[in-house]
Amino acid sequence: MSDTNINLTPLSELGEFGLIDKITSGITVKNKSTLLGIGDDAAIIKPADEMLTLISKDLLLDGVHFDVTYTPLKHLGYKAAAVNFSDIAAMNGKPTQLLIGIGVGAKFSVEAIEEIYSGIRAACEVYGVDLVGGDTTSSKTGLVISATIIGEVEKSKVVYRSGAKPNDLLCVSGDLGGAYMGLLILEREKKAFQGNPNIQPDLTQHDYILQRQLKPEPRIGVIDLLAKNDILPTSMIDVSDGLASDVKHLCKASKVGCVISEEKIPIDQTTFDTAKEEFKIVPSIAALNGGEDYELLFTIKQSDYEKVKKIDGISVIGYMTDISDGEKLITNDNISIDIEAQGWDALKNKS
Ligand code: ADP
Ligand code: MG
Repeated sequence: MSDTNINLTPLSELGEFGLIDKITSGITVKNKSTLLGIGDDAAIIKPADEMLTLISKDLLLDGVHFDVTYTPLKHLGYKAAAVNFSDIAAMNGKPTQLLIGIGVGAKFSVEAIEEIYSGIRAACEVYGVDLVGGDTTSSKTGLVISATIIGEVEKSKVVYRSGAKPNDLLCVSGDLGGAYMGLLILEREKKAFQGNPNIQPDLTQHDYILQRQLKPEPRIGVIDLLAKNDILPTSMIDVSDGLASDVKHLCKASKVGCVISEEKIPIDQTTFDTAKEEFKIVPSIAALNGGEDYELLFTIKQSDYEKVKKIDGISVIGYMTDISDGEKLITNDNISIDIEAQGWDALKNKS
């Protein structure tokens, strides 16, 4: 998007209602629980009797949660939806309805908003979520996206942060640290670009971590896999702030301690190489303190170990302990250190 592109349509040309029509045209509802979608003063939702309704909201501000200078708008829309779906997954539920509030500056074009919505709608398509409403307004402080997600979970299947017990196994899906390394690459290229706008960055070898940062996927599939394998986690959270911070949330809510083995933390090779070679960061630090991976961190009863072992893409990284034992990391050198939500001086100069 640039001011010199004369093909873009200014928002004023379309007006609020024209814009709403454009971004919501052709939307059909997929979920049984959606009785009425966009178009009236409110949507109508009625979950089945055996289900509980989950609801959560995220607010994304330009310059705080994303940077429009390097975030493709379609990805931004996708991410705004995906991170909300992830919160529902973290309760062991499925996202079903989404509402989007959007505030845009006068400089924004209709096409730019359509881009954001193409991302939102793509995420809804992939995860079977109905876009059932929203609000549109002008903003004087840059782009604002607020997403409210509604989901469903069977009454007997809801998983809280607070259910972990000592000796439960601590598990995580996928791999960690990639989104943070993607962010560091984007920040670095932005600086280089500002220094010399004629240099176009070559980002191809960083595809995986850039995708982790720009287009995170909620782990709805993991919820299905756990159910299929007859595993009900005892506690669960999605990793949005980094493993260290999020395991502390589980421990605090469950009133337990934990032990994590550094060597068990799943880290993708691209994440590992980028951290070590390009940024001189110990890769596990990226996993522990980098956020936005949106993997699921959960605990299971020890008796479920054989079942979880069989599932691809889930790692057992430690276990829960008595609260008096604290939150510990066993490093690759076999030293036990306290897990801190930030700053790993003990590890920083290793590698
Ligand atoms: P109101 O004036 O009552 O807020 P609107 O004219 O803003 O109503 O909205 C009309 C319909 O369009 C409602 O169903 C609303 O949920 C939907 N809507 C408005 N803005 C958006 C948006 N940005 N994304 C999705 N749906 C929207
Ligand atoms: Mg409105």
